[in-house]
Amino acid sequence: MNTYARLPVTFSHGEGCRLTDINGKTYLDALSGIAVNTLGHNHPALVKAIAEQAGRMLHVSNLYGIREQEQLADRLCALSGMSEVFFCNSGCEANEAAIKLARFYGHQQGIDSPVIIVMEKAFHGRTLATLSATGNRKAQAGFEPLVSGFVRVPYNDLAAIRAVAEHNKNIVAVMLEMVQGEGGINIATNEFQGGLRQLCDEKGWLLMCDEVQCGMARTGTWFGFQHAGILPDVMSLAKGLGSGVPIGACLTSGRAAGLFKPGNHGSTFGGNPLACTAALTTLATIEADALMARAVVAGAAIREGLAAALVGNKGIVDIRGKGLMIGIELDRPCGELVARALDAGLLINVTAEKVVRLLPALVITDAEIKELVERLSTLIRDFLSA
Ligand SMILES: *Cc1c(COP(=O)(O)O)cnc(C)c1O
Repeated sequence: MNTYARLPVTFSHGEGCRLTDINGKTYLDALSGIAVNTLGHNHPALVKAIAEQAGRMLHVSNLYGIREQEQLADRLCALSGMSEVFFCNSGCEANEAAIKLARFYGHQQGIDSPVIIVMEKAFHGRTLATLSATGNRKAQAGFEPLVSGFVRVPYNDLAAIRAVAEHNKNIVAVMLEMVQGEGGINIATNEFQGGLRQLCDEKGWLLMCDEVQCGMARTGTWFGFQHAGILPDVMSLAKGLGSGVPIGACLTSGRAAGLFKPGNHGSTFGGNPLACTAALTTLATIEADALMARAVVAGAAIREGLAAALVGNKGIVDIRGKGLMIGIELDRPCGELVARALDAGLLINVTAEKVVRLLPALVITDAEIKELVERLSTLIRDFLSA
């Protein structure tokens, strides 16, 4: 189906942050499949682990014990401080699990019509419930009736959430991204996150962090909420978790743990041995190669490099980000930069109409950073002066 406005390029293979198309032209990949290829392309450790796992066993049902899944759950819980994991295959599925969990939790508290607070400009996925939670009217248009049970508030506005709580007794949870990706690289302040944690404790709500894009070491900590020193009740992961092999996860702790019993939720493919091996290898490689620290250093180098190269250009509204989640906001719609960059051998993305978004692999080298800064700043300068 015609669900994507595809760019006129088809790739045949990749290496690190480089992709080569079927005509032999190479590109610097600053998007990583939208924050998916955590370890870049063709990472030897990942290729080896996947090949070996494929030679042992690809899939068995969740009706049986799955050792790779148990190991991955243990690792994710140890790294996050969460206590349970449900595995699925994508971000929207991880959020669907979170939404079902919040409703289930509400019903157990005697709330028959549970409501989840969500943010303006949020992106949580394209299934009906996650689309309803998403704060983008364009994406929702034509798919009404949307799923009920969501109220929307401005991002980073604790007072707005308190105000909603005043007149709505059915609230059971707050769901948000710690850094909004599709919404334009908007960062939840540590004060907001801390205040939310406190408010959720006060009210008995679940704090649900959608870490599908900002998780997996991309912002310089394993998960985005760790910058604020808080622990959510629910966390969703996907995108970078398997470095390109599809896998999602919904983790719980505290009052959200222990809610689901056999029969309440499930997934045929979720957490199969191949996907879990890819995720275990991704985690191990991030750790072995100190890629969290690398995300901090590389992200700062890119932001500072762009700021220096673009200084004095009036069309630049803001250059912001956390680690390797970077947004360059312009004063005008700049979608056409994507095709211009492609021509110049650079893969970038534009989101929220005016924000150039960079999500390079955590293995990006210093030379690639230099090249990215030079090429992108030239493209932006030319675009702004045209
Ligand atoms: C991409 C994304 C999703 C949806 O993930 P899919 O795997 O495409 O379903 C959900 N939440 C956030 C924050 C995302 O960036």
